Order: sequence, then structure tokens, then C-alpha cells
Amino acid sequence: MIRPCTIRVSGREVTVVDEPKNKKLFGYFDPTCPAGWRISLYGLTGQQRASTLFHELLHAMSAAEYEDRGTRVLSEKQVAALEKAFAAVCRDNPKLMRSLIRELTKQ
Ligand SMILES: [Zn+2]
Repeated sequence: MIRPCTIRVSGREVTVVDEPKNKKLFGYFDPTCPAGWRISLYGLTGQQRASTLFHELLHAMSAAEYEDRGTRVLSEKQVAALEKAFAAVCRDNPKLMRSLIRELTKQ
């Protein structure tokens, strides 16, 4: 289970919090929260929780990368497509994903 935590995204701290289940929302990235960037997860577990967190992280990553460049962040449609494509690559290539993580996290 992915627990509430703080994640570093391009030098920023993003707080991940649990919220009560919501009929309309699975997750929400809020870059306007006065306490800092925040991702809310609404009563999710398992694979749905993981894919929603990754979806919201894509929003955060795109906001972090484009914030100072005057470029529009990724659209909802683009984020949803990347979320699904990344999940499929992970499912179909678990050994490759472990190798990528190992290589990318070397100091
Ligand atoms: Zn979204």
C-alpha cells in the first residue's frame, strides 16, 4: 500500500494525502495550496491507487518542468494517455523497469 508521504518532484516537495472516498474524484493535484503542492487520493486502494498517484504525479511533473518556461502544462488527455501507456510498459516489462530504476537512482 502506498502511504501518504512527501515526494520530491524536480526539487519541489509534493505532499500526498488521503481524503475520504469521493464519487466524482479519484485524485487531485493542487499546485495552489498555501502549504505547498499537494496530491489528494480519495479512498483508493491497490492498483487504482497506484495508477491515480502516478497520474497526479504526471500533472505535478509537467507543472514543475514547464512552470518557468511560459509553456502550457500537459493537458488532461495527454496525462491520461501517458498514465495508461506507462502502466502498460511496467506490466509488460517488469525487469526493464527494475533496471531503469536501478540505473536512474545510482549516485
Ligand atoms: Zn488528471
